[in-house]
Amino acid sequence: MAGQNSRDSSGQREWLIAEAKRAHLERQQGYRERALKIHPWVCAMCGRDFSGKKVRELTVHHLDHNHDNNPPDGSNWELLCVYCHDNAHSRELEAEWHDAPTPGGDQEPAVTHNPFAGLAALLKGQKG
Ligand SMILES: [Zn+2]
Ligand SMILES: [Zn+2]
Repeated sequence: MAGQNSRDSSGQREWLIAEAKRAHLERQQGYRERALKIHPWVCAMCGRDFSGKKVRELTVHHLDHNHDNNPPDGSNWELLCVYCHDNAHSRELEAEWHDAPTPGGDQEPAVTHNPFAGLAALLKGQKG
């Protein structure tokens, strides 16, 4: 009956490694989530409201331009819309752009219509 206890440890170690990697990634990228929890979803420059789905257009600007400076109280963060963030960095071209949404990178999840409908119509139209 006994002797099964030691089998768990290897799986647990893998889990710990995966968890450490995930935590590391989260530390690098998670400041956006944290900033969105601390600050109102309003562009700090133009004052536009980005609550709801539009929050994707809000980016996190680091006031001291140091990505590694992410104090938990959010004092180094400012939420800027992509346009104002662009303006804020217009003078420095090597900006922190990785946290901005990429144009065209958004996937449209809504596939409500039949993607083959157009194809069927096309095939029907192909008569001699
Ligand atoms: Zn703005
Ligand atoms: Zn910035």
